[in-house]
Amino acid sequence: MSVHQKLYEGKAKILYTTDDPEVLLTHFKDDATAFNAQKRGQIVGKGEMNCAIATQLFKLLEAAGIPTHFIDRPAPNEMLVKSVRILLVEVVVRNIAAGSLCQQTGLPVGKVLPTPLVEFYFKNDALGDPLLTRDRLLLLELATPEQLDQLTEQALQINKILTAFFDQCGITLVDFKLEFGVTSTQQLLLADEISPDTCRLWNQAETDPDRRVMDKDRFRRDLGNVESAYQQVLERVLATNTATNG
Ligand code: UDP
Repeated sequence: MSVHQKLYEGKAKILYTTDDPEVLLTHFKDDATAFNAQKRGQIVGKGEMNCAIATQLFKLLEAAGIPTHFIDRPAPNEMLVKSVRILLVEVVVRNIAAGSLCQQTGLPVGKVLPTPLVEFYFKNDALGDPLLTRDRLLLLELATPEQLDQLTEQALQINKILTAFFDQCGITLVDFKLEFGVTSTQQLLLADEISPDTCRLWNQAETDPDRRVMDKDRFRRDLGNVESAYQQVLERVLATNTATNG
């Protein structure tokens, strides 16, 4: 499939058109940003590692009946995906309190939530991705009420699948962010990526609050060993998927 022009360049990925209008090519970059791009850097090999991890997780979710935009991984840091209109909503699912939830509510980091919490944020860098209420989301027409119900239902289902899978990897899925898109035929698909850039992942073999971190918090908080943490996630995901799928 021949690649045409650059459609969009984001913080971690570049999107290209292909000769099929329904298919786009995503190039995963090594660039890393945090705090609404106020902190910038590079995580060597991140593009390939995140592309590989996201590929495994999309395949796992597809096999469990979740429709995703994933088509193929033609190169180590490239993914072919179905073209969608991305909803301007970031869907965050939390199992354990961390990050902005703790900063905004005072809940202690590490508190296990009684049930998973689904939150919606406005995907808008200029406004700093603010937390939305259901009514604000509908007011801004970021999704229809039916789509909102579907987003919540799918997010919770995805959480169940990923939590069980990461548990098999010896990793606790603390929280994560999802993005969804709509195809030309109005089908809702899980899009973007699922990777250590978009999840909080804690190594179950470590109790120390800094040593257990296997995700982008290592970059955000200058904890060091960012590349080796991502590599460790990739190795465990591949080993567990192989063990599960034969
Ligand atoms: N997240 C993300 N992109 C964003 C904001 C959050 O991937 O623009 C992920 C983040 O990595 C974490 C979860 O969503 O796994 C919840 O993030 P939180 O709201 O705690 O914000 P943060 O502490 O990252 O500012």
